[in-house]
Amino acid sequence: MIKIALTGNPNSGKTTVFNQLTGSSQYVGNWPGVTIEKKEGFLQGRKTVSLIDLPGIYSLSPYSLEEVVSRDYLLEEHPDAILNIVDASNLERNLFLTLQLIETGIPVVVALNMFDVVARRGDRIHTKRLGKWLGSTVVENAAIRREGLDSAADAAIQAGTHKATFEPLKIYSDEVEAALEKISSLLLDSVTSDQLRWYAVRIFERDEKTLGKLNLSAEKRLQIDELIKGVEAREADDSENIITYQRYEYISKIIADSVVKQQVGMSVSDKIDRIVTNRWLGLPIFALVMTLVYYLAISTIGTQMTDWVNDVLFGEIIPPAIENGLQALGTADWLQSLVLDGIVAGVGAVLGFLPQMMVLFLCLAILEDSGYMARIAFVMDRIFRKFGLSGKSFIPILIGTGCSVPGIMASRTIENEKDRRMTIITTSFMPCSAKLPIIALIASALFGGVWWVGPSAYFVGIAAIILSGIILKKSRMFSGDVSPFVMELPAYHWPSLRNVVVQTWDRLKAFVKKAGTIILVASAVIWFTSSFNWSLQMSDVSDSILASIGNFLKPLFVPLGWGDWKAVVAAISGLVAKENVVGTFGILYGFAEVAEDGAEIWDLLRESFTGLTAYSFLLFNLLCAPCFAAIGAIRREMNCARWTWFAVAYQTILAYVVSFMFYHLGSYIVYRQFTAMTGLAAAFLLVFVYLIVRRPSKRVARAAC
Ligand code: GDP
Ligand code: MG
Repeated sequence: MIKIALTGNPNSGKTTVFNQLTGSSQYVGNWPGVTIEKKEGFLQGRKTVSLIDLPGIYSLSPYSLEEVVSRDYLLEEHPDAILNIVDASNLERNLFLTLQLIETGIPVVVALNMFDVVARRGDRIHTKRLGKWLGSTVVENAAIRREGLDSAADAAIQAGTHKATFEPLKIYSDEVEAALEKISSLLLDSVTSDQLRWYAVRIFERDEKTLGKLNLSAEKRLQIDELIKGVEAREADDSENIITYQRYEYISKIIADSVVKQQVGMSVSDKIDRIVTNRWLGLPIFALVMTLVYYLAISTIGTQMTDWVNDVLFGEIIPPAIENGLQALGTADWLQSLVLDGIVAGVGAVLGFLPQMMVLFLCLAILEDSGYMARIAFVMDRIFRKFGLSGKSFIPILIGTGCSVPGIMASRTIENEKDRRMTIITTSFMPCSAKLPIIALIASALFGGVWWVGPSAYFVGIAAIILSGIILKKSRMFSGDVSPFVMELPAYHWPSLRNVVVQTWDRLKAFVKKAGTIILVASAVIWFTSSFNWSLQMSDVSDSILASIGNFLKPLFVPLGWGDWKAVVAAISGLVAKENVVGTFGILYGFAEVAEDGAEIWDLLRESFTGLTAYSFLLFNLLCAPCFAAIGAIRREMNCARWTWFAVAYQTILAYVVSFMFYHLGSYIVYRQFTAMTGLAAAFLLVFVYLIVRRPSKRVARAAC
């Protein structure tokens, strides 16, 4: 059994290599932080070779969670070899990690990935010379085109099976090397010869954690300390800086010797970036792109397909077929009703939006894989930073556009605890794919398909995140310095068909699976509670259990304009899964029955809403507490019940207040209606503005759990 660890900088293509070599389909994301946990798989066709995809890191100093995961794995699990995936188009930056990896004493094979980009630019890399400088095997490959991967895997297997005795690379100045030599001799009893170099360097850098682990005698510690102090005094710098500086010096020498840059002028990628990440144009372009995406999905291509699915498939084809089938079998009336009015109506209403979802997923996958979305984190960082927020928070938010659960999990990469909490709280404001049917339903059935409703939902999400960020950051629970945000921007490339299709397919599959499980059960429950009264007799909808629950809670929502019991229970059923909002409407407005006559199915729904109340309903559902799965993710990531409650309360109160303000101020603007509520809404607005513009709190609370 041979274990090969894949390591490299974020976005260097590790997961792409992993997927190609193991034949699996892990999520490939064009931004850092996508692989937070290590994944293991076997080399295709060879069950004796296992590959481990580690999180991307820039160095082995344990400052961030990814670094800790990767470093602990390498030092404690002792893989047989490291396959270091290097972004060859960014060699200088990537080699820093490579030098550290070589120091671990584990055999390293360097895979120069993205060689297609290097070749396109016309640069040349002398692989042999590079190999000599690094004392390791170097191979060229382009993972995205499956080029050179087999030789990379072979070289790693070779390195892992025939281990040569470890010879450290002498990369530091004579003086530092001499000091490392002496430290090594003091460590001889404590560590194995392979790891001697690693520990010597770490101790020279005064890594307290490593020092603590070794249990050295006080005398040895003193000797080591004097050694380091001596070097520091002569170099007039601290030891950690000395090491970093000398590594970069060594890298410069490598680059000068083995890389020939052809490039004159700017690459195409740089030219695109000049415009796309431009200080003034970046944001408007992003707004335009996302508007187009949601417009395409919700108001054009998606809608045409959805109309067919709703009117024909779930209108004329499936319900009559099932009805005939059930009648032929002679099933009881109640069972027919459960299947037709409950399950087909509820699940069908949700599945009707599958085409729109497909278009949205496809667009997002293309934007992401081409490298555009990574730029957005960059553009947003500039804006976020002005308000004391970090662009790093934007990555979980982008991921959350698919589903909040992985988005919330991605917040792990944020080191600063306060920023991480804030990101967890705000991530679910993004319209995740489960909210898409709600948006699409309201846009098409209640607003007649106007172009702006879909995109506006996306921007409401972003606005809620930015404004919440500003408000929360000013409170002492969240105040503090902004975390730094470093990110390699990968060169643009044509999206790979495989990545795009795999990602879209995975998401669609998850959606259909959910419709066949959670939504199906929820539909049965909604059907039951809407068909029976409290004495468990079949009754009219208006006397049903559900109606009485809805009517009981209705007063809470009357101030938001949609105090209709059906809307109230729909919103509440969304806690189980957001798709249920649409499913519940489907059942309560007799989706199956109406559809049978081929009538426009959502007409009845339209009668219970006005433009204002429909949008207020949308706002509330976009911003309020997410589904239970996402609340569960919040609970896990916060690791604290109090913070979870805070998050859910914050989201729900914000949703309530925003819908309230929208409805009452909107009513004033449209109908010139001024009531006490309008006054209250105006007062809320003032408080809101105050919270945004006030001075940040000077006091800094240690927001413990
Ligand atoms: P990871 O963060 O290291 O796991 O990197 P990923 O595997 O997620 O890849 C990051 C991005 O680089 C994705 O958009 C890939 O499609 C792209 N990519 C990966 N390998 C290559 C390659 O050889 N050439 C080019 N041009 N792009 C690649
Ligand atoms: Mg990855």
